[in-house]
Amino acid sequence: PRLANQIAAGEVVERPASVVKEILENSLDAGASRIELDVEQGGVKLIRLRDDGQGIEKDDLPLALSRHATSKIRNLDDLEAVQSLGFRGEALASVSSVSRLMLTSRTADQDAGWQVQTEGRDMTAEVAPAAHPQGSTVEVRDLFFNTPARRKFLKTEKTEFKHLEEVVKRMALSRFDVGFTLRHNQKVIHQLRPADTDAEQERRIASLLSPAFIENAMKVDVCAEASGLRLWGWVGLPTFSRSQADLQYFFVNGRIIRDKVVAHALRQAYQDVLYHGRHPAYVLYMELDPKLVDVNVHPTKHEVRFRETRLVHDFIFRTTHRVIADIRP
Ligand code: ADP
Ligand code: MG
Repeated sequence: PRLANQIAAGEVVERPASVVKEILENSLDAGASRIELDVEQGGVKLIRLRDDGQGIEKDDLPLALSRHATSKIRNLDDLEAVQSLGFRGEALASVSSVSRLMLTSRTADQDAGWQVQTEGRDMTAEVAPAAHPQGSTVEVRDLFFNTPARRKFLKTEKTEFKHLEEVVKRMALSRFDVGFTLRHNQKVIHQLRPADTDAEQERRIASLLSPAFIENAMKVDVCAEASGLRLWGWVGLPTFSRSQADLQYFFVNGRIIRDKVVAHALRQAYQDVLYHGRHPAYVLYMELDPKLVDVNVHPTKHEVRFRETRLVHDFIFRTTHRVIADIRP
């Protein structure tokens, strides 16, 4: 409990998209290489995720649903160097308290799967045997069935699904090496094989975001040896025009972020050359020494804090500016 208190920051399950973000992160933390998501009615009726990750031991199944139980850090020193997406041990507990949740899992060295179910705060039965391949299945039904006040804040099925799909898009853009399938009301919305080559990655971006973007984009990949910074990805050319700022994806060490320093550097790079008044479009990845960035400022707001703001700003500006200037007609 002491450790949990120091980590603090209780996150609230706001809508189906928040559930999907948490369970996707858990699958990635478990080393999954294939993730399948089935949702019904925008995720309010059903969210079912199946992964081929390392699975959960029988005895750990009830723990996975209890608050502040995480398998990912053991002490505060670990917290400093946390590499996993989750570490608070709160997500499944929070989700299970406002839904009917079923967790089924099997590890490589078990010869059968095991299952736990909850309904709101109550664990409905003991751990029971269940047929399952290696990996985990999380099934979340009837979100907010026991909290009408929160259910009232849900938007239409279409809107909830849009939010949920955006979470899947971001996750699929952050992990080209993982295959993702998303179905809504039995209909396949995205089916993405693992993408290794540039061409495969570009195909994934085209199908997730926009074929026009990738046709009018330039690949970037620059390393700054001295600082160890790397920036790679795709910057949209002026021939791709969009009026709203809806195609801006920036990942730092694999996590999507929103940051003033980054946004400013990119805006400047574009404006300086040819994007007067228009929103730049990009899918970019920056990698840097984890010690130079704090990504755990807030669990849900996608904020980061860079140790060396100037260095980061100048690197992003110079790199993108050079590419954009090069291709100027
Ligand atoms: P956290 O991710 O912060 O540890 P969660 O509440 O999201 O907390 O999950 C609790 C625990 O359940 C995790 O620490 C992990 O051990 C286990 N877990 C959850 N989902 C999966 C999964 N898909 N595969 C393997 N383990 C999982
Ligand atoms: Mg988690």
